[in-house]
Amino acid sequence: MRHRLLVPGAVALSLVLAVPASAADFTPGAPGVGDTYYPESGNGGYDVSHYDLRLKYQPKTDLLQGTATLLATTTQDLSRFNLDFALKVSEIRVNGKKARFATSGKHELEVTPATPLEKGKQISVVVRYADKPSQVKIDNYSAWARTPDGGVVAQEPDAAVWWFPSNDHPTDKATYDVSVAVPDGTQALSNGVLASQSSKLGWTRYNWRSDKPQATYLTTLAVGKFDITTDTTANGLPVINAVSKDLGANEGSARASIARTAEATEWLESVFGPYPFNAVGGYVPNVPAHYALETQTRPFYGKKAFDRGTNVSVVVHELAHQWYGDSVSLKDWKDIWINEGFAAYSQWLWSEKEGEGTAQQLADYVYAQHPADDPFWKVRPGNPGAENQFDDAVYDRGALALQALRNKVGDKVFFGILKSWPTEHRYGNASVADFVKFAGKKSGTSLDGFFDTWLFEPTRPAAGAAGRTLGVRHTAVAEPKSWRQIAAATHGVHGVHGH
Ligand SMILES: [Zn+2]
Repeated sequence: MRHRLLVPGAVALSLVLAVPASAADFTPGAPGVGDTYYPESGNGGYDVSHYDLRLKYQPKTDLLQGTATLLATTTQDLSRFNLDFALKVSEIRVNGKKARFATSGKHELEVTPATPLEKGKQISVVVRYADKPSQVKIDNYSAWARTPDGGVVAQEPDAAVWWFPSNDHPTDKATYDVSVAVPDGTQALSNGVLASQSSKLGWTRYNWRSDKPQATYLTTLAVGKFDITTDTTANGLPVINAVSKDLGANEGSARASIARTAEATEWLESVFGPYPFNAVGGYVPNVPAHYALETQTRPFYGKKAFDRGTNVSVVVHELAHQWYGDSVSLKDWKDIWINEGFAAYSQWLWSEKEGEGTAQQLADYVYAQHPADDPFWKVRPGNPGAENQFDDAVYDRGALALQALRNKVGDKVFFGILKSWPTEHRYGNASVADFVKFAGKKSGTSLDGFFDTWLFEPTRPAAGAAGRTLGVRHTAVAEPKSWRQIAAATHGVHGVHGH
């Protein structure tokens, strides 16, 4: 969905200091994975398989205390390695032994184990910490939102550094156990299923489990007073929805929207294939935000997403991401179209199914809305740049490209591609280039030039390039009935969280 832009800062370069000759092969892990837009995101030298987060949060004071246990495999001989984390740390142990640590850059934690780590070994890293996450600022911003009754963390591309140490890049996905103690009468929500819950001495502990690979930014936590409803889909998938008890006039529209979660999931399965995770649902905390986010198994919806009433289109968008973005994650943040083009197009398909405007009518409308000299066409969805990563064009031109593909290859091949992509790349990572190649293979023709026109040229494609002539004149194309809900889910919600 749409989020804050974090302009990447200068890469913090670490100098490799002299090491004893006997340990010459052991070198520090890189401070980033080399992402095009966010060079400091993630780290080199290891791969995390599991996060166990044991937390305690006091809403009154905003104090978050935690012990994080990371299970990882080294991918090089390591003298030290980095974690991405911004909160205050008191102790780190690697394989049970105390490690030295120091901070650097915007959110780097440099960990030096007591003994160097050999390549290809399983390691455990235990980090103890305590801090007030809403007060920890990077570039004068915190992704942790305090609410009247708790706190919420759900942001893209950066969220994890405000609540757990990690290898913070979508290329390193892992499973999660998130256990959170909160004062009795308050709930804690996270991803997956609620494995257990118990109360002791005024605190209630909620134990959440997400058992399929999950990216750090898709891991969410919400503490507050919620009405939680549980159910199962026709296929037996657990459905857990939660709505803050403090939504005021938006309560009805929020409830009515996420009540459609099971139905939308079932319909999406008919388009994209089997649902990839162990639970589904959504939550609406009392956060004054317009945006929503595809947090895995349990999308986040800002309260203001329902200011204009019920919006099922935004629910469809976030659930579509469970296939496109969550199960199949991007390789690099420049590949954002792999997520947003498809989630936006799923809203067009939903509109078509609901009889509120076909995808072709929506394509005609979007095309006609933007004359050739509109800066809209300068944004290249295939690599929009960090500053335009969540620009309207990534969504609208991104979806338009898919309608053009549909016209070019025909419905049978097109819908075959929509279903086989998430199936064949399940739980993995992929790039825009991978999709171009994949679609070419499935359609039996090279689509390089076609996608260059639709995703990479900073100009409006010719009206006939969509496989049929698009409506050109703004006034000649009627607004599809679904357009306002579609646009409300993806447009103009920059900077609404007041950082
Ligand atoms: Zn999205």
